[in-house]
Amino acid sequence: MRKVFGFTAAEFVPAPEAVLRAQGVKRDRAADPRTAGLCTEALGLLEGLARPTGLLQELSRADFAAVYCGEGRNAERSPLAEIAPRAERLALFALTLGAPVTERIASLFAAGDFALAAMLDAAASESAELIADSLQRNYARALGETGGLNGQTRLLRYSPGYCGWHLSGQGALFAALRPAAIGITLRESYLMEPLKSISGVIVAGPGAIHSFADDYPFCADCDTRGCRQRIRTILQS
Ligand code: SF4
Repeated sequence: MRKVFGFTAAEFVPAPEAVLRAQGVKRDRAADPRTAGLCTEALGLLEGLARPTGLLQELSRADFAAVYCGEGRNAERSPLAEIAPRAERLALFALTLGAPVTERIASLFAAGDFALAAMLDAAASESAELIADSLQRNYARALGETGGLNGQTRLLRYSPGYCGWHLSGQGALFAALRPAAIGITLRESYLMEPLKSISGVIVAGPGAIHSFADDYPFCADCDTRGCRQRIRTILQS
């Protein structure tokens, strides 16, 4: 399966509360009118400028093992290295909000409109995560339609640069996925162009394979412990 997906505004425009939280407004506090106004303006810009597109391509466990090796700079042990060999299905993915959003953020910063630039930047980051969630749901739906999903199958995604998968893994991922087809290219630094893009692998398999302890050596430097919530969510679904 190799497939390109588009996304509707309902899928990619984040809730104002999520953007305000990302900007430091506490969950139980109302934003002041100026901040709330900036958020509304940023979301309007995002909806008008975004060209969200995602690309998904399945590959075998053996092919993913080669992609994961990349330049050989991964952590000695990592969740993905232990989970992927037990996956039922694997799919590389890349998605982007498109260049116009990134360009507007840069032009706002260049013009000194830092408040709106930062709000649009936060909205775009939230939006990219929403698109990743939506792409994952689309993959689950496609698996369901082709009989590749049973009641126990759960999906979780991983990206180079996180959880022991070295950022240089982007090179092998891009060589296998070829996301230039949807306008995403890789800089020498392994950052993606446009900047508001996400790449990685979606792992589909029994819920139990996704559960792991957060005691890898690199976890000591992890502030978010984001895997805990993600694992809880998929195991409860
Ligand atoms: S604790 Fe952080 S670094 Fe460790 S696996 Fe979870 S998300 Fe990754």
